[in-house]
Amino acid sequence: MHLPASIACATIGGFLAHRGTGVLSTKYGKIEDMVMSLEVVTPTGEIIHTLPVPRHASGPDLTMLFLGSEGTLGVITEVTLKVHPQPESRQFRAYIFPDFHTAMQAGASLMRSRLGPCAMRLYDETETKTHVSKVFGIDLDKGAYLVFGFDGRKDIVNLQMKHAREIMEGQFHGKDLGAKGGEWWWENKYKFFYPGYMFHVPQAFGTLDTVADFAHIEKVYWAMKNVVNKEFPDARFIGHFSHWYEWGCMLYARFIFPGDKVPPDPRDAAALYNAVWDKAIRAAIANGGVINEHHGVGLKLGRYVKDLYGTAMPVLEGIKKQLDPNGIMNPGKLGFAGI
Ligand SMILES: Cc1cc2nc3c(=O)[nH]c(=O)nc-3n(C[C@H](O)[C@H](O)[C@H](O)COP(=O)(O)OP(=O)(O)OC[C@H]3O[C@@H](n4cnc5c(N)ncnc54)[C@H](O)[C@@H]3O)c2cc1C
Repeated sequence: MHLPASIACATIGGFLAHRGTGVLSTKYGKIEDMVMSLEVVTPTGEIIHTLPVPRHASGPDLTMLFLGSEGTLGVITEVTLKVHPQPESRQFRAYIFPDFHTAMQAGASLMRSRLGPCAMRLYDETETKTHVSKVFGIDLDKGAYLVFGFDGRKDIVNLQMKHAREIMEGQFHGKDLGAKGGEWWWENKYKFFYPGYMFHVPQAFGTLDTVADFAHIEKVYWAMKNVVNKEFPDARFIGHFSHWYEWGCMLYARFIFPGDKVPPDPRDAAALYNAVWDKAIRAAIANGGVINEHHGVGLKLGRYVKDLYGTAMPVLEGIKKQLDPNGIMNPGKLGFAGI
């Protein structure tokens, strides 16, 4: 049930090393929720195994230590994963709300109800009007598109859907696009990433993946959007919210420069590109956002990790030094510069 949009090109090692997320994560969890145990070769050459079950009271969780370590603490050579049964039924439904704030309230209520959707996605007004309309080939001119689904035993799915509709329609007065409006999304969900729908050279774009609790997620959205709009008027800012939890969700924000607004000199283009990242990510962190939910840190975002962790950063650095005393594993990644 781990179905990231990169399913056709990424490896299980890659999923584990940066704590990847699939499209059904809202029910089945991120990849780290599907792991039982790991075999890891440490930087000093020992082969170690983490405890065979993921829930125990036998000290801190070593399995979690290696998940998300992006190859800086060891090489994962084996994993035992949970396998989920294929559901008998999977149903989707979509709504249009007048604005994304109302849709966010509806989505948060659905998560807090513990009805347990398998997926949910909310597109801001701009992305609804441009991308969602284009991918589905229908005119969604006004409002924010929210889609969700349930899967499992058919009679239970019917009941979950009935109660979810009461939240969407009874409490938040969403305009019902019906089951068809939700199935459009499920059938076309990967289209957004492929030619014809994806941005391309000479356009320049970045995906500002951020996660926050419900108390902060809208502030993060507005802080990023406002700083991009104000400081870089040539860029467009769009966002959708995917991978929902009972406490918050992920913001998949993007800035896009049209091709004719990208400086022709690659050094100027790179400087502009990095300036947008800097402003937007610092705005997200200052407003309670965490960078990030599933794309990982790598080399590019390493310079923000100290700001993110604050006084906990030396703890992380200490673990790196202890496990990799010679600094041979992915030097510079995860903000471990010079370690
Ligand atoms: C179009 C597109 C859509 C995407 N959609 C998603 C999505 O829906 N969800 C998502 O989570 N990501 C998504 N991604 C991001 C990306 O594909 C994932 O991050 C992917 O899991 C990376 O896997 P990989 O095999 O390519 O890893 P790589 O890029 O090769 O490696 C990633 C990092 O992991 C380390 N690593 C790899 N294998 C191991 C190992 N065995 N042990 C230790 N370290 C290791 C590498 O050293 C590197 O630091 C998307 C990317 C693209 C281009």
